[in-house]
Amino acid sequence: MVESRRGLLLINTGSGKGKTTAALGTAMRAAGNGMKVLVLQFLKGSWHYGELDAAEFFGGNLVIRQMGRGFVKVGGAETDPEDVRMVEHAWEEAHAAIDSGEWDMVILDEINYAIGYKMLDPVKVADALRNRPEMVHVILTGRNAHPLLVEMADTVTEMKEVKHAYQKGILAQKGIEF
Ligand code: ATP
Ligand code: MG
Repeated sequence: MVESRRGLLLINTGSGKGKTTAALGTAMRAAGNGMKVLVLQFLKGSWHYGELDAAEFFGGNLVIRQMGRGFVKVGGAETDPEDVRMVEHAWEEAHAAIDSGEWDMVILDEINYAIGYKMLDPVKVADALRNRPEMVHVILTGRNAHPLLVEMADTVTEMKEVKHAYQKGILAQKGIEF
């Protein structure tokens, strides 16, 4: 029996460029179908990305919120408790949004980094995703996706770096990186 319509769990991971932009492309596709999409960006906050303004064109069908403050120091005593608190708050918002019935798609951008940096418990995330309302699509992005989440996901894409402009010393460009 093939299910014709259901909420999927997708993960965009790997070390190549395109994890966030692929998620935003899916968001645009969904919003164009009249679906309501919420993007919560873990850790991000200091840069102003073009997508924040582009979302305004979708009139409430696409909402993007930055839940961090940008650059994070990580590793044992280096990890600032304020960053951990912001990740916890982002996760509370994410969990509530997924269960609210208000959104058809919830994108948790860079959440894999928050988990990888041990700022968020993958078991807690997996439990919440497993018990989410049936029709909600969820996309997780960031390198080094946790194996527990990869295991339960429906579609997992690993971006592979062939080359990146940064290696030639080219810094982030408007419209490409932000
Ligand atoms: P994008 O937001 O462009 O889709 P991403 O989500 O795949 O990138 P992140 O790990 O979130 O990548 O990193 C975001 C930033 O780091 C972007 O500015 C991106 O261009 C840059 N970046 C991504 N991959 C690489 C790489 N392999 N080498 C250098 N910089 C990279
Ligand atoms: Mg990204």
